[in-house]
Amino acid sequence: MAIKEIVQEGDPVLRKTAEAVAPEEFNSKELTELIQNMQDTLDACDDGVGLAAPQIGISKRVFIISKKAWGVSENETATNLVCINPTIEKLSKSSSLLEEGCLSVRGLFGYVERADKARIRAYNQDGKPFTYNGSGLVAEIFQHEVDHLSGILYLDHTDTTHKANHEHKH
Ligand code: ZN
Repeated sequence: MAIKEIVQEGDPVLRKTAEAVAPEEFNSKELTELIQNMQDTLDACDDGVGLAAPQIGISKRVFIISKKAWGVSENETATNLVCINPTIEKLSKSSSLLEEGCLSVRGLFGYVERADKARIRAYNQDGKPFTYNGSGLVAEIFQHEVDHLSGILYLDHTDTTHKANHEHKH
Protein backbone atom coordinates (compact mmCIF):
# COMPACT_ATOMS: atom_id res chain seq x y z
CA MET A 1 0.00 0.00 0.00
CA ALA A 2 1.46 3.37 0.85
CA ILE A 3 3.42 5.39 3.33
CA LYS A 4 1.44 8.58 3.92
CA GLU A 5 2.65 12.00 4.95
CA ILE A 6 2.01 12.68 8.63
CA VAL A 7 -0.18 15.73 9.14
CA GLN A 8 1.42 18.38 11.36
CA GLU A 9 -0.04 20.56 14.09
CA GLY A 10 -1.98 23.47 12.64
CA ASP A 11 -3.91 21.28 10.20
CA PRO A 12 -7.62 21.42 11.10
CA VAL A 13 -8.06 17.64 10.70
CA LEU A 14 -6.12 17.16 13.97
CA ARG A 15 -8.73 19.29 15.79
CA LYS A 16 -11.85 17.55 14.51
CA THR A 17 -13.80 14.90 16.40
CA ALA A 18 -13.24 11.80 14.28
CA GLU A 19 -16.21 9.84 12.92
CA ALA A 20 -17.03 6.35 14.12
CA VAL A 21 -16.49 3.48 11.70
CA ALA A 22 -19.96 2.21 10.72
CA PRO A 23 -20.74 -1.53 10.92
CA GLU A 24 -20.97 -1.85 7.13
CA GLU A 25 -17.50 -0.35 6.75
CA PHE A 26 -15.77 -3.31 8.42
CA ASN A 27 -13.88 -5.38 5.85
CA SER A 28 -14.58 -2.78 3.18
CA LYS A 29 -11.86 -1.94 0.69
CA GLU A 30 -11.64 1.61 2.08
CA LEU A 31 -11.15 0.56 5.73
CA THR A 32 -8.68 -2.18 4.79
CA GLU A 33 -6.70 0.33 2.76
CA LEU A 34 -6.79 2.94 5.54
CA ILE A 35 -5.45 0.44 8.09
CA GLN A 36 -2.77 -0.83 5.72
CA ASN A 37 -1.65 2.72 4.98
CA MET A 38 -1.52 3.47 8.72
CA GLN A 39 0.54 0.32 9.34
CA ASP A 40 2.95 1.18 6.53
CA THR A 41 3.28 4.77 7.73
CA LEU A 42 3.86 3.82 11.37
CA ASP A 43 6.25 0.99 10.50
CA ALA A 44 8.28 3.50 8.50
CA CYS A 45 8.72 5.73 11.57
CA ASP A 46 11.55 4.34 13.65
CA ASP A 47 10.54 6.62 16.53
CA GLY A 48 6.76 6.12 16.35
CA VAL A 49 4.81 3.83 18.68
CA GLY A 50 1.24 4.85 17.83
CA LEU A 51 -0.69 6.51 15.02
CA ALA A 52 -4.28 7.73 14.76
CA ALA A 53 -6.13 8.02 11.44
CA PRO A 54 -6.44 11.84 11.60
CA GLN A 55 -2.64 11.96 11.57
CA ILE A 56 -2.74 10.81 7.95
CA GLY A 57 -5.64 13.14 7.23
CA ILE A 58 -8.55 10.70 7.68
CA SER A 59 -11.06 11.71 10.36
CA LYS A 60 -12.07 8.20 11.44
CA ARG A 61 -11.98 6.56 14.86
CA VAL A 62 -9.06 4.22 14.21
CA PHE A 63 -5.62 4.02 15.79
CA ILE A 64 -2.83 1.51 15.80
CA ILE A 65 -0.13 0.78 18.33
CA SER A 66 3.20 -0.41 17.07
CA LYS A 67 4.47 -3.77 18.23
CA LYS A 68 7.54 -1.75 19.26
CA ALA A 69 5.48 -0.50 22.23
CA TRP A 70 5.70 -4.00 23.75
CA GLY A 71 9.44 -3.97 23.30
CA VAL A 72 9.46 -6.85 20.83
CA SER A 73 12.53 -7.27 18.71
CA GLU A 74 12.53 -7.27 14.92
CA ASN A 75 12.52 -11.02 14.50
CA GLU A 76 9.51 -11.69 16.73
CA THR A 77 6.17 -12.23 15.07
CA ALA A 78 4.03 -9.87 17.16
CA THR A 79 1.87 -7.51 15.13
CA ASN A 80 0.68 -3.98 15.58
CA LEU A 81 -2.57 -3.61 17.56
CA VAL A 82 -5.44 -2.16 15.50
CA CYS A 83 -8.15 -0.37 17.56
CA ILE A 84 -11.37 0.77 15.89
CA ASN A 85 -14.04 2.89 17.63
CA PRO A 86 -12.05 2.69 20.87
CA THR A 87 -13.31 3.82 24.25
CA ILE A 88 -11.41 3.93 27.51
CA GLU A 89 -13.38 1.80 29.96
CA LYS A 90 -11.23 2.33 33.00
CA LEU A 91 -8.27 4.38 34.14
CA SER A 92 -6.21 3.70 37.24
CA LYS A 93 -6.26 6.29 40.00
CA SER A 94 -2.49 6.24 40.09
CA SER A 95 -0.81 8.38 37.48
CA SER A 96 2.64 9.51 36.43
CA LEU A 97 4.14 12.56 34.80
CA LEU A 98 5.52 11.27 31.51
CA GLU A 99 7.51 12.90 28.74
CA GLU A 100 5.45 12.71 25.56
CA GLY A 101 6.03 13.49 21.95
CA CYS A 102 3.80 13.23 18.91
CA LEU A 103 4.53 12.46 15.27
CA SER A 104 2.28 15.43 14.45
CA VAL A 105 4.28 17.80 16.68
CA ARG A 106 7.77 17.28 15.35
CA GLY A 107 10.73 18.07 17.53
CA LEU A 108 8.90 18.99 20.72
CA PHE A 109 8.17 17.14 23.93
CA GLY A 110 6.21 17.92 27.04
CA TYR A 111 5.36 16.38 30.39
CA VAL A 112 1.82 15.06 30.68
CA GLU A 113 0.06 13.40 33.61
CA ARG A 114 -1.29 10.02 32.48
CA ALA A 115 -3.00 7.19 34.33
CA ASP A 116 -0.61 4.27 34.86
CA LYS A 117 -3.15 1.72 33.65
CA ALA A 118 -5.90 1.99 31.06
CA ARG A 119 -8.47 -0.53 29.89
CA ILE A 120 -9.62 -0.03 26.34
CA ARG A 121 -12.58 -1.49 24.51
CA ALA A 122 -12.39 -1.47 20.73
CA TYR A 123 -13.09 -3.47 17.58
CA ASN A 124 -10.51 -5.25 15.52
CA GLN A 125 -10.25 -5.06 11.76
CA ASP A 126 -12.89 -7.79 11.33
CA GLY A 127 -15.39 -5.99 13.57
CA LYS A 128 -14.84 -8.24 16.62
CA PRO A 129 -14.96 -6.39 19.96
CA PHE A 130 -12.11 -6.84 22.42
CA THR A 131 -10.82 -5.29 25.61
CA TYR A 132 -7.17 -4.75 26.43
CA ASN A 133 -5.59 -3.83 29.74
CA GLY A 134 -2.59 -1.66 29.07
CA SER A 135 -0.02 -0.47 31.57
CA GLY A 136 2.98 1.82 31.38
CA LEU A 137 3.81 2.89 27.83
CA VAL A 138 0.81 1.05 26.34
CA ALA A 139 -1.59 2.80 28.75
CA GLU A 140 0.01 6.13 27.88
CA ILE A 141 -0.43 5.46 24.15
CA PHE A 142 -4.11 4.49 24.63
CA GLN A 143 -4.77 7.84 26.31
CA HIS A 144 -2.75 9.79 23.74
CA GLU A 145 -4.44 8.13 20.74
CA VAL A 146 -8.00 8.37 22.07
CA ASP A 147 -7.28 12.08 22.58
CA HIS A 148 -6.34 12.33 18.88
CA LEU A 149 -9.81 11.03 17.96
CA SER A 150 -11.35 13.86 20.01
CA GLY A 151 -9.20 16.54 18.40
CA ILE A 152 -6.96 16.81 21.46
CA LEU A 153 -3.18 17.01 21.29
CA TYR A 154 -0.84 16.37 24.21
CA LEU A 155 0.04 20.07 23.98
CA ASP A 156 -3.41 20.79 25.47
CA HIS A 157 -2.39 18.97 28.67
CA THR A 158 0.82 20.86 29.32
CA ASP A 159 2.00 24.47 29.54
CA THR A 160 5.58 23.90 28.58
CA THR A 161 7.33 22.01 25.85
CA HIS A 162 10.98 21.45 25.19
CA LYS A 163 13.18 20.15 22.42
CA ALA A 164 14.77 16.80 23.08
CA ASN A 165 15.74 13.55 21.55
CA HIS A 166 13.31 10.98 22.78
CA GLU A 167 12.70 7.56 21.36
CA HIS A 168 8.90 7.43 21.50
CA LYS A 169 6.43 9.49 19.56
CA HIS A 170 2.80 8.71 18.89
ZN1 ZN B 1 0.19 11.95 18.62
